[in-house]
Amino acid sequence: MRLSVVVPCFNEERGLQHLHDALSAVLPEASEDFEVLLVDDGSSDGTLAELRRICADDPRFRFIALSRNFGKEAAMLAGLSQATGDAVALMDADLQHPPELLARMVELLGHGYDQVVARRTRKGDKPVRTLVSRLYYRLINKMVDVELKDGVGDFRVLSRRAVKALLSLGEYNRFSKGLFSWIGFDTAVVPYENVQRQHGETKWTFGKLLNYGIDGVVSFNSKPLRMAIYLGLLTTGLAFIYAVYVILDSIIGGVDTPGYATVMVGVIAFGGLQLLFLGVMGEYLGRIYYESKRRPHFLVKESSDGAPVTVALGTEAMEHAEFLQHAHSHSHTEAKAK
Ligand code: UDP
Ligand code: MG
Repeated sequence: MRLSVVVPCFNEERGLQHLHDALSAVLPEASEDFEVLLVDDGSSDGTLAELRRICADDPRFRFIALSRNFGKEAAMLAGLSQATGDAVALMDADLQHPPELLARMVELLGHGYDQVVARRTRKGDKPVRTLVSRLYYRLINKMVDVELKDGVGDFRVLSRRAVKALLSLGEYNRFSKGLFSWIGFDTAVVPYENVQRQHGETKWTFGKLLNYGIDGVVSFNSKPLRMAIYLGLLTTGLAFIYAVYVILDSIIGGVDTPGYATVMVGVIAFGGLQLLFLGVMGEYLGRIYYESKRRPHFLVKESSDGAPVTVALGTEAMEHAEFLQHAHSHSHTEAKAK
């Protein structure tokens, strides 16, 4: 069995040598035949130079470099589409995903699972972030159709079948946590202790996390739009009752006060609600706009194999599923060129 390990790297120059050492120490144990596919996600430090050096020294390591920073989702997708293994592992470059776990995870995959995911504890995280995450997952699982688990991230090993399924989902906005869950298949979970980042810095600012959270909600269904309908119905109902009261009151008691406060509260509340749901609708509209462009998910500027890399996704990926296993071969490039 051949194992591919896909690692997205964004400004990780200081940690890559450690990553190489750690992986070369544990991977032979996990699989007799393996490759490590490092994806440079448009880093602005010396990451690419490090990748060139590492891959020149060790033929088991390959890299592709994206033309700019496309984000981790795109980088992982790039790696998945180019991986040649029967099983594909996804992990971070910063060694927060302990490589020692890989052997156990690959072994589980051999027991007939299609996904083996590692689940981290939240030990050492900031208490506020832990709390927010807990609340978020409780809330989001009420809202989306797929199940999202706290502590379960991108650290996982996938069977070739699961990889094909993932590649067949051609959407541009990729919320991979949801996609992994959406494809289903038998999934095994391996718990591990949380590890702090050793080199470099996390790329998650508060703003990015917030956006990621919103992505999670709107990526998987249109329930927020449904919520708009319910809230609209509720407020219309309340307004109707209040209108009856106001009319009766003025008929019986006559028109006395100007009612400034009530009007203001009404205007502000409804204005806010309308803006909120205009935003929700805009969010979906924006997604449709992006999807309709059908742009490639990433562009490649350089790879250790020399040849430029192209990717087919969606239904095309299903048709080219055989190609995708050898996506770096010439036949594929030519097929796309036609
Ligand atoms: N990463 C990437 N592109 C980005 C941001 C991050 O490829 O735009 C990679 C990064 O190099 C690392 C992984 O994604 O290998 C996880 O990033 P990070 O450690 O910053 O996230 P955290 O572990 O804090 O959630
Ligand atoms: Mg990290």
